Amino acid sequence: MARHKTARASAPQPLALPPGFVERMRALLGSEADALAASLTAPPLTGLRVNTLKLSAADFQARTPWQLEGVPWCADGFIVEGAAAPGRHPYHAAGLFYVQEPAALTVAEALAPQPGELVLDLAAAPGGKATHLAALADDQALVVANEIERSRVGALLSNLERWGAWNMVVINEEPRHLAERWAGLFDRVLLDAPCSGEGMFRKSEAALRHWSEDNLRGCAVRQRQIIASAAALVRPGGRLAYSTCTFAPEENEQVIATFLAAHPDFELRHVALPGVSRGRPDWVREVLPGVDLAEAVRIWPHLARGEGHFMALLQRTDGPPARLQRAAVRPADRRLVAAWRDFAAATFGLDPAADRAMIAEGEALYAVPAMALNTEGVRVARLGVWLGTLSGERFEPSHSLALAVGRDAADGADALGHMLNLAADDPRLDRYLQGHPLAAPGAPGWTLIAVEGFALGWGRRSGDTVKNAYPKGLRRPLR
Ligand code: SAM
Repeated sequence: MARHKTARASAPQPLALPPGFVERMRALLGSEADALAASLTAPPLTGLRVNTLKLSAADFQARTPWQLEGVPWCADGFIVEGAAAPGRHPYHAAGLFYVQEPAALTVAEALAPQPGELVLDLAAAPGGKATHLAALADDQALVVANEIERSRVGALLSNLERWGAWNMVVINEEPRHLAERWAGLFDRVLLDAPCSGEGMFRKSEAALRHWSEDNLRGCAVRQRQIIASAAALVRPGGRLAYSTCTFAPEENEQVIATFLAAHPDFELRHVALPGVSRGRPDWVREVLPGVDLAEAVRIWPHLARGEGHFMALLQRTDGPPARLQRAAVRPADRRLVAAWRDFAAATFGLDPAADRAMIAEGEALYAVPAMALNTEGVRVARLGVWLGTLSGERFEPSHSLALAVGRDAADGADALGHMLNLAADDPRLDRYLQGHPLAAPGAPGWTLIAVEGFALGWGRRSGDTVKNAYPKGLRRPLR
């Protein structure tokens, strides 16, 4: 008992809210600022969104070990009650859900991408909203996920691989460059702008530490620049979603008001989502005829179960159409494609990429998205799904392939003895995720390791042992 008390006494204290922030919110919200401040010192929520490319929300709920509460504005989003750590569950490694705070789910829901569309996420890392866009379009749209910071592209790639979408492209570019290269091309563009992060105060100590009025004003300048590039990328009739995870009007309503004043070819659309608060026209000095900033959406942590968020949906009413862009795909060498086909037939009994064009980079083979996009002059980190690499005579499947194969290919692998399918509470799953080999007789060769039929990686069986092929960078610490 005494030891417990001592440990608690030495635990780090949460940082206090910056006094300048508290003062500003009091000026904006009056006495309501107390409720906001109290909510920001409460423990953060844990949320998740089901990967409907792999299973339905109802199917997930039926299997889940956690108590879940639905998020009003997203049918596939849930709050995980209690002290659960969903990110450590094998379902997470199999890409059955994305750990995402509920307020962030408003944005892709409002943008509502449709099958057949070209969709761009301009500030995508680490990938929460990009994976949401892919799921909402049922992987039938081309989702281009851009991240300007090279150091953040790895995390973006890894999260997208786990999601298992086939029609995705990952790029690493400056918005201004893309606006020149792909002007007027996209049906939907999402700009989840870098911001001062006031809405993340209870999740991120860095946001608390770095808060200052100067920083917030600097963010607003940058947001005005990026939204201009984002707008140039939207086709006439297309839509642009702008979002931040901050409360400051300078970064939200004021960015939208300044943007609309300079862009008569855009109009603000009403975002109708249940359980949200409205934008605040009273926090903007200039009045724009015909524009009601209450059409935008806010999430307040003292009024809803979520962190802080703002989002506005804009539609381009006019503008020059994009020039037709033909994609020049240089087909992969036949030798590589033949090695893939042999591997697929032996492992799955079918070709999961049968209807796709393929390209090669050295000995690595990729299945390119069904929709064409000319990526000349753009730094591409990933085009479609990396299927694997030819090593000598042997085709070695990639980790991303294990996460992208659909139910039919997984069932095929199971029928051919190329799947080790384990129950969610089987301790071998934890051992696999730590990088250990597993003892399991079966067909020799590449074997999908799966939790309840959902693959989470590869092993290679020889005799009664499955050698571990889980990527070293993803392995959990050995215990
Ligand atoms: N949309 C992401 C998600 O849902 O996981 C979160 C995006 S985060 C709020 C903002 C991103 O903008 C960061 O990844 C950051 O690197 C990027 N960024 C920073 N400066 C930028 C700029 N000038 N232009 C475009 N993106 C920028």
